[in-house]
Amino acid sequence: MASIFARIAAGEIPSYKVAADDRFYAFLDINPVAKGHVLVIPRLEVDYIFDLDDDTLAAMHIFAKRVARALKAAIPCRKVGMAVLGLEVPHAHIHLVPMQSEGDMDFRREKLQLTSEEMQQIADNIAAHFE
Ligand code: AMP
Repeated sequence: MASIFARIAAGEIPSYKVAADDRFYAFLDINPVAKGHVLVIPRLEVDYIFDLDDDTLAAMHIFAKRVARALKAAIPCRKVGMAVLGLEVPHAHIHLVPMQSEGDMDFRREKLQLTSEEMQQIADNIAAHFE
């Protein structure tokens, strides 16, 4: 059975989509560490990011760069941080987090509670800046 993220990319499970192309999909993390916390995934179903073939791994980072630029334009921040954990969901993903301080990259801290309206608004705002 496909992973939850593969099903999200296929549109079978709803998500707050911010960007997509034929190989990659970006959407809001449902338990954000900061406003605008985005996950970038390949449509290809591979668990561990460093098991991706070189071309997909490189292209995924270039796609993430475009998403990060949209994020920075949509959400005022000092920089967009990037992290790979992958201990919870067995489908390769990059976390992109708009940072004001180092603490915004602390994945152990309490997650934000945002309404679905707020989440949708953030996703739409990032999507509007995606080029
Ligand atoms: P990790 O695998 O440790 O990088 O963590 C997986 C991340 O995916 C966590 O930050 C979760 O909040 C997030 N996540 C899990 N399920 C969903 C979902 N259905 N939609 C959006 N984000 C999710």
